[in-house]
Amino acid sequence: MKKLIIAIDGESSSGKSSLARELARNIGYKHINTGSMYRAVTYYAIKNGFINKNKTNEFNHYEILEMVNNMKFEFQLVNNNSEIFINNKNIQSEINSPEVSDFVSQISTISALRTIIVNIQRNIGINKGIVMEGRDIGSVVFPAADLKFFITADIKTRTKRRFIELNQKGIKIKEKQVGLNLRKRDFLDKNRENSPLIQSPEAIKIDNTNLSIDEQILIINSHIKKKLKKK
Ligand code: C5P
Repeated sequence: MKKLIIAIDGESSSGKSSLARELARNIGYKHINTGSMYRAVTYYAIKNGFINKNKTNEFNHYEILEMVNNMKFEFQLVNNNSEIFINNKNIQSEINSPEVSDFVSQISTISALRTIIVNIQRNIGINKGIVMEGRDIGSVVFPAADLKFFITADIKTRTKRRFIELNQKGIKIKEKQVGLNLRKRDFLDKNRENSPLIQSPEAIKIDNTNLSIDEQILIINSHIKKKLKKK
């Protein structure tokens, strides 16, 4: 059976991670959440004191790049979830803190960092059979991906979803604060110079404001079937 590369891009908290996870389980593919990689870099940059928390745009690129060159990025299945390991340590639960969310979009603007991370992502996808999600998967990482989807939902729905998710993880934060962070990240992600979040012309748009994961998977599976027939 031919294996595909499926690229899923979209705005922050558009539900693309839950969708990509379920889809990958459904079709037996690997699931790679590329946001986790940028979050991991941000987490360690904060931990090492490389970010001046009062001046969000001030950080030393060289310090961060040197650190990244000593990071080994891996994804492993833990209880059927694809989780991120850095230098053999599982840091999945550390990377979703509001503090990491606050700085990650600034860190992700560093072009040399993106070059390193994109190369790792291309290597991970080399054997296909992968659902990779992020912001630039269809546009930069795998421009020749077999299928590209662009996931969106209205901002109120996205805020509520993220708020509930953080609450369930025991992270205390106001809903308004969550909304502000999403808007800020959307703005930075769409307006950065290097690989901004865009919908590739050939990407299939799914607005999931009123769609369940199962309904979205039905849509995606119909495209997969068509694609595999043509191959
Ligand atoms: O997907 P998630 O919301 O966890 O991603 C966190 C941040 O990482 C995004 O807001 C974006 O700034 C950055 N990112 C990126 N390119 C990707 C994935 C994520 O710049 N492919």
